[in-house]
Amino acid sequence: MFRAAGNLSKSMMRTQRRFLNLQEFQSKEILEKHGCSVQKFVVASNRKEAEEKWMSFGDHEYVVKAQILAGGRGKGKFINGTKGIGGVYITKEKNAALEAIDEMIGKRLVTKQTTEEGVRVDKVMIAEGVDIKRETYLAVLMDRESNGPVVVASPDGGMDIEAVAEKTPDRIFKTPIDIQMGMTDGQALKIAKDLQFEGNLLGAAATEIKRLYDLFIAVDATQVEINPLVETADGRVFCVDAKMNFDDSASYRQKEIFAYETFEEHDPREVDAHQFNLNYIGMDGNIACLVNGAGLAMATMDLIKLHGEDAVFNAVRIITSDPRVKCVLINIFGGIVNCATIANGVVNAVNKIGLKVPMVVRLEGTNVDAANIY
Ligand code: GDP
Ligand code: MG
Repeated sequence: MFRAAGNLSKSMMRTQRRFLNLQEFQSKEILEKHGCSVQKFVVASNRKEAEEKWMSFGDHEYVVKAQILAGGRGKGKFINGTKGIGGVYITKEKNAALEAIDEMIGKRLVTKQTTEEGVRVDKVMIAEGVDIKRETYLAVLMDRESNGPVVVASPDGGMDIEAVAEKTPDRIFKTPIDIQMGMTDGQALKIAKDLQFEGNLLGAAATEIKRLYDLFIAVDATQVEINPLVETADGRVFCVDAKMNFDDSASYRQKEIFAYETFEEHDPREVDAHQFNLNYIGMDGNIACLVNGAGLAMATMDLIKLHGEDAVFNAVRIITSDPRVKCVLINIFGGIVNCATIANGVVNAVNKIGLKVPMVVRLEGTNVDAANIY
């Protein structure tokens, strides 16, 4: 469910899956608000809307981009595509751009970050094309190793950043930033040099990098990834693609950003679970697990303390809604959680749902004897 060339930063972040993922156009709206350089663009759901909103971008090219949460669109392929175009189409002709919109909308785009079923394209971005001289990679992430933000930069940005990370890791530069001090001018310049900006462009690139870092902090992001961050033939710096993730815990103070949340491309069971503050991940296999181990433990305890049996009920309901599930294994250690509460929740859930598959429950810990009576 991650989009953009998120593979690189995803593996570096080693962080929990975040729920809020934005489409490229939404990320770019935020970038623009924070003074970063993005191309002019409009967003449309069909050709007619595109024509109504159409902007003339002068002599420039038009770029039509499928808006899906997965990255790798440039090299992606449409199922039943008739024109052999991918998720990023560049043309100088308005008509060709309009035809590309017709071709993309409603079709499923398969990229290396989607399943082979692909993702249906419901919206496209039409942007002013920029004359790209060089593509670089820049990401700001929360990094566990340095316990704070780190800037990951490579002069070899573009569509093959994963290959760069694998084959020439020395071409990827990391700069940890002190979250209290913020990014210094010296650090911004160093990163701009890492990205091989030169001459007049060095200053412009450093300014852009600082803005991106400041944005990262201002919006409580866990990731801001710009791939590519480009140098244009006429000596400007642009964020051509953008991928952002946010810290869910900050949703209370980032209302505007979390209002972007749509659940269109999510597994409906995960969306259902999210409403009850449950961490649910649908997977292959036929044993459903309801556990409170590892990182989930604290959250589950808080949750069960707060919502008691309702949470247990909803958890059982959601995991057993998967027809592949042939049995349920519940293994919970009651540290703060009261085993009796869980047992009660489980029994109620089984009765209410009319569970048809076997369930094995292991409870241990607080009040376990009282749990036996259920
Ligand atoms: P992704 O494939 O999903 O990561 O989509 P991107 O937005 O990164 O676009 C993929 C590639 O298309 C970029 O790496 C660029 O090479 C190219 N591209 C995107 N926008 C433009 C543009 O405005 N002008 C030109 N010349 N190329 C572009
Ligand atoms: Mg990209």
